[in-house]
Amino acid sequence: MADTGHKISITVTYDNNPCEQGLETDWGFAAFITGTDPQARLAPVSAFAESTGAGAGKTILFDTGPATANSLLDNMQKLAIEPDNVDMVVLSHIHGDHTGGLSSFLEKNPNVTVYLPKSFPKKFKDNARNSGAKITEVTESEQICENVYSTGQLGKWLKEQSLIIRTDKGLVVIIGCAHPGIVNIINTVKDLMEDDIFLVMGGFHLEWATKGRIEKIISTFKQWHVQYVGPCHCSGQKARSLFEKHFGSNYINIGAGKVITLADL
Ligand SMILES: [Zn+2]
Ligand SMILES: [Zn+2]
Repeated sequence: MADTGHKISITVTYDNNPCEQGLETDWGFAAFITGTDPQARLAPVSAFAESTGAGAGKTILFDTGPATANSLLDNMQKLAIEPDNVDMVVLSHIHGDHTGGLSSFLEKNPNVTVYLPKSFPKKFKDNARNSGAKITEVTESEQICENVYSTGQLGKWLKEQSLIIRTDKGLVVIIGCAHPGIVNIINTVKDLMEDDIFLVMGGFHLEWATKGRIEKIISTFKQWHVQYVGPCHCSGQKARSLFEKHFGSNYINIGAGKVITLADL
């Protein structure tokens, strides 16, 4: 199972853009990452965990959507994702549209490790711990499980981490809101991992950016030879349209319920 690096799928469990019918689409973002073979999941980091049968691998919930009612849990249920099947939660940044769903999620499954930027308020960490979750505070880039890494907390005033998954096709980068700047984040990924970037998806934070600035970012993506893009959440319609125009069939139209299977790209 150790070679599941490329056999992953990403289900967008929450996004303010609609995709599958019947899902809640308030402002927010969450994604569930697993092996395409449900038995496979992602390989655990240590051989020890494998040899003790601690699990065939790991699944990750990246961000948790907003706090409105049971939005994340409702969407997960409709997408047939059991909260119990989540092993790890990675929170990109403190904003409520990414962390709001955590407490109701932990009520269903507290047996997870939550990776969060060290800069999160103490009260937030205490609440998560009191729910029974294990907390890992992230400062620098670190490995989360086999083939999966955090960029570390980036940004000056508002700290944010992004998720990097190493696959046979190149790196997959999943971004919450890109507050440290989309170009800055990808530059960091390139410095950290000597590999090509296959897919960048998530919130690019370009809602209020000018067409000129967006096109400059797109040409930077092209210079980096980013293969696929999936701007969603706070990327803004203008940026989504421009990325679609420039990436053509390598643009992924992401919304709530979208499933991205790496093997199909
Ligand atoms: Zn934010
Ligand atoms: Zn956001």
